[in-house]
Amino acid sequence: MTQALILKNVRIIDGNGGAPLYDHSVLVRGGRIAEIAPDAVLPALHDATEIDLNGKTLLPGFIDCHVHIMGNPDPRLSPRMSNIPIRDATYLKARALLQAVNAARKTLEAGFTTVRDLGAPNDVFALRDSLAVGEHLGPRLLSAGKGITHTGGHGTEYSNDMAHVADGAEEVMKAIRYQAVAGADAIKIIGGTRPALSPPFRGRAGYTTEELIPGIEEAHRAGIKVAAHAHSHTEGIKNCIRAGVDSIEHGFPLDAPAADMMAQRGTFLCPTLSVNPAAQQAIEEGLWTYPGSEEQMKRMETYARDTIALAKSAGVKIALGTDAAMPLVFHGDNAHEFQLMVEYGLSTMEALVAGTRNAADNIGMLDETGTIEIGKFADMVVVDGDPLADISILRDAGRIEVVMKEGQIVKQ
Ligand SMILES: [Zn+2]
Repeated sequence: MTQALILKNVRIIDGNGGAPLYDHSVLVRGGRIAEIAPDAVLPALHDATEIDLNGKTLLPGFIDCHVHIMGNPDPRLSPRMSNIPIRDATYLKARALLQAVNAARKTLEAGFTTVRDLGAPNDVFALRDSLAVGEHLGPRLLSAGKGITHTGGHGTEYSNDMAHVADGAEEVMKAIRYQAVAGADAIKIIGGTRPALSPPFRGRAGYTTEELIPGIEEAHRAGIKVAAHAHSHTEGIKNCIRAGVDSIEHGFPLDAPAADMMAQRGTFLCPTLSVNPAAQQAIEEGLWTYPGSEEQMKRMETYARDTIALAKSAGVKIALGTDAAMPLVFHGDNAHEFQLMVEYGLSTMEALVAGTRNAADNIGMLDETGTIEIGKFADMVVVDGDPLADISILRDAGRIEVVMKEGQIVKQ
């Protein structure tokens, strides 16, 4: 039996959205949360190592539902824009995996104890399993591997084995089965193409609802969540919602009927707000060229704001995802998304729930993590200060004082 540990004298924000608990202690035993009680009660009952946290804030380990752990967010290091010799696909994937080992450590040290990768070569499953047995330091990684896309759809513009092309219900079903057998924890489908792709698919709806339904049902029978990349085309987004996906990634522009449908069906929205400001910066610094027009880029910003407002008023469940690895969306700066969610209209508590409870629910792990509750994994973060008063402190590495994953302190 592992040594029990008591974290005492903390303010607990448990991830469920209720008022914080003050002057409390948490007993951690066997990698799980064993008890939660006031300081006056708990420490006296147990012979455990005590850590006095001096009134700091204890939160559930953060969860990012949308990263690309094998992607490098520095455009200067992307093969297309740099002098890195382009060898073959094997070289690029090996290079990406080595980079990802470091990205995983940075992500965990930022307080993100679980992340879901939504788009990588299937080699990512090897990284996931390596992290799971502790060969490298990193978050619990769930991964989709290759995204499933139609001919000419988003994903096919990358040369590094990111996309599985499938057209029609039968091929989509086969692709989903293939990914499941290869080891996918989640399925990523490309529901709507981005506006910048070459014609004839620029700004089109992507898959039809009928193409998606049988495969999604099959994924659900296997207990696998389906996330749909869908933006820039509201009908494309609706096709995915109707087909029964579990989450819409990006999701702008949403309209009121789409938001209502999501609220009714319990479809999550993962708005990845980190992407646009970072892309703007990359363009301004001359590091990256947006494949569409400047006007399209600006429109994205408005779409995102309107979408958050619509989703919030309709009661759509929002889960945190950054799209880390997009230009200048850095692994380890995932908490920027909390701050952006507040800037775009969520309350600080809503943003915290989006990155804890809702995120765990979205990826199917709410029984194990996402909140500070007895019986769950001891995935927790100690923050110096009160994130309800200032959410931006979560982005400050110096304020993330302790990170615990399954009871093991990985940063102190
Ligand atoms: Zn993405």
